[in-house]
Amino acid sequence: MISTTPAQRALLLAEFPELLDFARPALRLHPRPGVTEIGDSSVGGPLLWPADEPWPTCTEPHLVERVSTLSTEESARRHEDSIARRRRSLEHLEKLGGAVPDLVEQARAALAKAEFGPRHMVGVSREAEPSGEPVVMAPVLQLFERDAPGIAFADDSDLVQVLWCPAQHASGLGPRPVVFWRRVAEIDACREAAPALNRVFRDSWVPLMCVVHPESVLEFPPICTLEDETSTGLFGLLPASLETRIREWDAAENLPEELSYVRLAHAPGWKVGGWEFSAPEDDALVDCACGAPMRPLLETYSNEELAGPWSPSSGPDFVWGDPENWTDQEPTGVKVARNGALWIRICSVNPRHPIDVGLF
Ligand SMILES: [Zn+2]
Ligand SMILES: [Zn+2]
Repeated sequence: MISTTPAQRALLLAEFPELLDFARPALRLHPRPGVTEIGDSSVGGPLLWPADEPWPTCTEPHLVERVSTLSTEESARRHEDSIARRRRSLEHLEKLGGAVPDLVEQARAALAKAEFGPRHMVGVSREAEPSGEPVVMAPVLQLFERDAPGIAFADDSDLVQVLWCPAQHASGLGPRPVVFWRRVAEIDACREAAPALNRVFRDSWVPLMCVVHPESVLEFPPICTLEDETSTGLFGLLPASLETRIREWDAAENLPEELSYVRLAHAPGWKVGGWEFSAPEDDALVDCACGAPMRPLLETYSNEELAGPWSPSSGPDFVWGDPENWTDQEPTGVKVARNGALWIRICSVNPRHPIDVGLF
């Protein structure tokens, strides 16, 4: 059995043993390319779908892209706009200080590329298409309860399925997920095959078929990662004194990055359950319309982070992959957000309440 919980986590728990009271189980899925059947848990694989139930489609207004040649003046204007936008983004991230060092570096590189890179003479405009053919949804996750120790399923269900619309929407960014909770014993006859996808915004919006290798791990609540010393921002999921002490411990000089709370509390890659991620701002924390807090159902992430503290310490038979090889690092091929992460959140009281989706 594979195990990837960092050995360094013992240091965190020795310092803050009370954290264990706030631990939540999560399931690292460890997707790896492979062929799956309808009876298997999978990412991007065939679903156990009732023969008498229509396959989900999306009828929201979608965007269509039109490509046109730009005049020299228009090309120059867009170039200036792009530089100004990137400059504003860099200034915003710099204000967040050391909380987001990677993003600051990325924003700097993007600005330099825009300033010194070629001007584009071709423009792509996106227009809402008011009524098109319904878009066939793509399978994203199928997970049987037997493969998901510690994960709470909706009442009477033992199978969860996630699909999403892989077209671009007029009303916002990212694919549109839907979640189905089922009881396997109630499915009499299954559909033989999924319908072919009829519209896809990008290849990276459709997961490649992957076998999953679930691993149970524990996660701890997110904290505010603002390093501004005058900030008193707290996420409030831990008692204030504990969150404050963890922030101070985290800010201590000479603490290697792999020992930071963020790295030790949250598992990387595709996962089910657990806690939201720590961040400078608490916009990942949302409530359901019923008033109950929401919790993560699924996090999809472009990168499995094969190097770093969450590397295997057992399970020698499991083919981990080469951190230098991007096809190993990104086995699902999914990248749907600027920084690669999409969360699906469910109501903590009733998982059948409407879901919420976040992109990062
Ligand atoms: Zn759609
Ligand atoms: Zn609710």
